[in-house]
Amino acid sequence: MAFQLTDEVEQFLKRAGSSILIGGVWRQASDGRTISTEDPATGRELTQIARGTAADVSAAVDSAQSAFVGDWSLLTPSQRGRMLWALADLVDEHADELATLETLEVGKPLRESRFFDVILAGEVLRYYAGWPSKFAGDVLPVSPMVGSIIGYSRREPLGVIAAITPWNFPILLGAAKLGPALATGNTVVIKPSELTSLSTMRLAELALEAGIPPGVINVVTGYGAEAGRALGEHPAVRKIAFTGSTATGRALVAASAPTLKKLQLELGGKSANIVFPDADLAEAASGAYQAIFLNQGEVCCGGSRLFVHDSVYDDFLAELVAAAEGIELGHGLDDMTDMGPLVSAAQLDRVTGFVNGGIRDGASVATGGGAPAEPPGSGHFMSPTVFTDVRDDMAIAQDEIFGPVVCTFRFHDEDEVVARANGTAYGLAAGVWTNDLRRAHRMAARLAAGTVWINTYNILDPAAPFGGYSQSGYGREFGLDSMIEFTQTKSVMIGMD
Ligand code: NAD
Repeated sequence: MAFQLTDEVEQFLKRAGSSILIGGVWRQASDGRTISTEDPATGRELTQIARGTAADVSAAVDSAQSAFVGDWSLLTPSQRGRMLWALADLVDEHADELATLETLEVGKPLRESRFFDVILAGEVLRYYAGWPSKFAGDVLPVSPMVGSIIGYSRREPLGVIAAITPWNFPILLGAAKLGPALATGNTVVIKPSELTSLSTMRLAELALEAGIPPGVINVVTGYGAEAGRALGEHPAVRKIAFTGSTATGRALVAASAPTLKKLQLELGGKSANIVFPDADLAEAASGAYQAIFLNQGEVCCGGSRLFVHDSVYDDFLAELVAAAEGIELGHGLDDMTDMGPLVSAAQLDRVTGFVNGGIRDGASVATGGGAPAEPPGSGHFMSPTVFTDVRDDMAIAQDEIFGPVVCTFRFHDEDEVVARANGTAYGLAAGVWTNDLRRAHRMAARLAAGTVWINTYNILDPAAPFGGYSQSGYGREFGLDSMIEFTQTKSVMIGMD
């Protein structure tokens, strides 16, 4: 099926070859090389973007550094706040266009792009627009050994921030880094995923339109091993705000070590979603469905391990399987589509590799298990998959699959399920379905995860810090925590004698 794109989207795709933004000027890669970007629902090329080099990264960092020590640092908190607010308004005004770009590259249904990713990106920017005029240091209650001292602290920006984002929620995760970075007075070089750079580029164009000065936001598109790596190693970058896989997070820790950059790492997950028999089971079933099948299951905090109490497991499983089998696969721009394709052929290979491994290890497939018999297009479609008979030590129960694949487990009591839920290397999120108030609070405290959802799932809010325990990373996105993450504290002591 061919979709009619609006003129603004068509025009944007035509100028996408100049996808590197340095000092307010869009350009091609310094060596002219490009990366083909495709529609994952069809496998067809959408456009070409620049394949940024280490030289491009260096120029972008220089531009960010000049802006940091230049006029940007002279703006008042209120002025920074107004610019972020203006950008949030432009995101809302251009929501249809941004959502279309997001769907074209990531594959997700347009209603998800439009009413989750883009709306939330605008809200994140608006939330951080409110912070600069309220974010302050402290008067310090010092106890001087000699004389009289007044002490206070300042929260100062770090300098040039490298923001590196993954392909699953590009505009939202871009906004989640730009908002607090700019609110606190830093400047940024952002490198989106080579698979999904378009919405980030458009966001940066809108930032210039919102009056954010040239050089404050720079964009370098390109591969992780080239542009990303150069950014991670650049000595003038003071902090890396990264969302992506745990493996790349580790590589960035190593790359940043020689120059001791601050790191904020939002990494992978293998989140447990736990259904107690006292829950509203209809609500829990629909929650378990969206916990794993939102965004084709390509969600870091997805409820990929579903623990259901033995007494209700069989009926619950039947309902989940029926819901999974009712999912309409298709192009994200088609209104009838419930789930789009996976982002790339490589991702489809990876996910089917895990599924085949699970079958070899002895797990049973209740539904799905590979590509659909009648795919809705030539893209990277995968059937929603539900596993039963999974042992906790299998790879499908321990490793992040990052696709529409859920492992289901029976459990018998609270202590047992807490131990099993906490039994992976990750700790990003967890879900609990119960109507027992005391159990809800007990579970919230006992689960080793950065976010615990009770009787809901996949709810993100700019006011609620989000991030991982253990190998899901460190640092927090959203909330006041993120303002603190993007600053350093200076103590000032004034002798008064
Ligand atoms: P990825 O780690 O492959 O890539 C993420 C980004 O890092 C991309 O822009 C990529 O080009 C870049 N990159 C790759 N190698 C690099 C290197 N050596 N140096 C610097 N940059 C490099 O991850 P992905 O496949 O794009 O995204 C999926 C992963 O992201 C999953 O593991 C998922 O759990 C994670 N994720 C986490 C969160 C969270 O908030 N915790 C949110 C979304 C996605």
